[in-house]
Amino acid sequence: MNEAEFKDMIEDSPFAGSPVKPIMLTEDATLQFRCHRDVKCWNACCSNIDIPLTPYDILRLKKRLDMSSGEFLNQYSVPFEMDKDGMPGVKLKPVEGGTACQFMTPEGCGVYEDRPTSCRYYPVALLTMRRSDEYVDRSAYAMVKERHCLGHFEDKTQTIEQYRAEQGVAEYDEKARAWRQLVVKRKSAGPAIGTPTPISNQLFFMASYDVDRFRAFVMSPSFNDTYNIPVEIMATLIADDEALLDFGMNFLRHALFGEDFVEQHPGAYEKRLARKRALAEQNKEAGFQKKMELEDDKYSGEH
Ligand code: SF4
Ligand code: SF4
Repeated sequence: MNEAEFKDMIEDSPFAGSPVKPIMLTEDATLQFRCHRDVKCWNACCSNIDIPLTPYDILRLKKRLDMSSGEFLNQYSVPFEMDKDGMPGVKLKPVEGGTACQFMTPEGCGVYEDRPTSCRYYPVALLTMRRSDEYVDRSAYAMVKERHCLGHFEDKTQTIEQYRAEQGVAEYDEKARAWRQLVVKRKSAGPAIGTPTPISNQLFFMASYDVDRFRAFVMSPSFNDTYNIPVEIMATLIADDEALLDFGMNFLRHALFGEDFVEQHPGAYEKRLARKRALAEQNKEAGFQKKMELEDDKYSGEH
């Protein structure tokens, strides 16, 4: 990757409007960095947070905190838009009225073993993109040097791969790969896909971040009237968050890009259309009845 391509990636990343300009790292790059309890800046990075979350980050944290995804989102996240079409993203919500992470403790991160991907990577950032004329996703690493972070002056040097292994990011990257591919595909989608509707954004939010609500959706009669999910697969989706997340990514490809991932019952589309029409008729009839009642009320008492 050359500097110009790297610049394109930055313009399409969370760093676009940031005063911190990342430095491009080649694949065999080494970084000089160490973070430990005795650095003078201990907790400085967690005192002023901007941490986007992947779906897998949320799974790990909700499990650790023994919460539903809805409870986690309410208490620990804030929504943001990942692109100009309102693609929904979520970030960690800081403490009430402040900028510090709710998980920060004097000893460091209170959820260390399950800390999000961005916290693991820092001060390295992972950038992923795909051009509309390419079929493969491309990743690059960048170094984020912030003035408050003194870890860059510590005497420890290692390669990016060693740092990734030390921070345990391989599993996090693997589990978030399908979601990242979906995000770059949506960002690079051409006019044939069109502007996402509010409903497709809601679906994206639910399948990506609110896995327990997505499970209720998958178990609902209307979903099962439409889609033909074998009983043993449904049993796995009900029991296993990670399997449900994988299924959700495939379902989004099916629903957003028309990719043939989920089998529909024969005639399901026509039945759904007929149900919608019947509902619209019912609403029209109810509206007419309501109008007639109002008319009756208007004239009652005038005799
Ligand atoms: S989750 Fe942990 S590492 Fe990440 S910002 Fe919060 S306290 Fe810091
Ligand atoms: S060295 Fe950097 S990452 Fe470590 S506590 Fe200080 S600011 Fe945070």
